[in-house]
Amino acid sequence: MPSLNIRRNDVVKILAGSDRGKSGRVLRVFPDKGTVLVEHVRVVKKTVSSKRGQRTKGGIAEHESPINVSNVALLCSNCETASIGYKVQGTSKQRICKTCGSELPTKK
Ligand SMILES: [Zn+2]
Repeated sequence: MPSLNIRRNDVVKILAGSDRGKSGRVLRVFPDKGTVLVEHVRVVKKTVSSKRGQRTKGGIAEHESPINVSNVALLCSNCETASIGYKVQGTSKQRICKTCGSELPTKK
């Protein structure tokens, strides 16, 4: 199973589906499923019914649904392209943008 190149707070571009072409920040990564949750992308509206004993109110809730990582591309925050490469530094792999050469932050 390939490890995910995408991390939380990365900016990704959507390559497939109804939100193709959009970009957004990664809210959550699900390595087990190979999916990511991207802000404002694939927002679904769910009607929430209020049930007794539950704290949630009835109404319409909006939330993002996970997208397969193969449908998103990591974006460079500097030049907005999606060609990401790796540079090995000692024991760690640093993600770099192949277009502008800048290192992409990996912390947070
Ligand atoms: Zn770049």
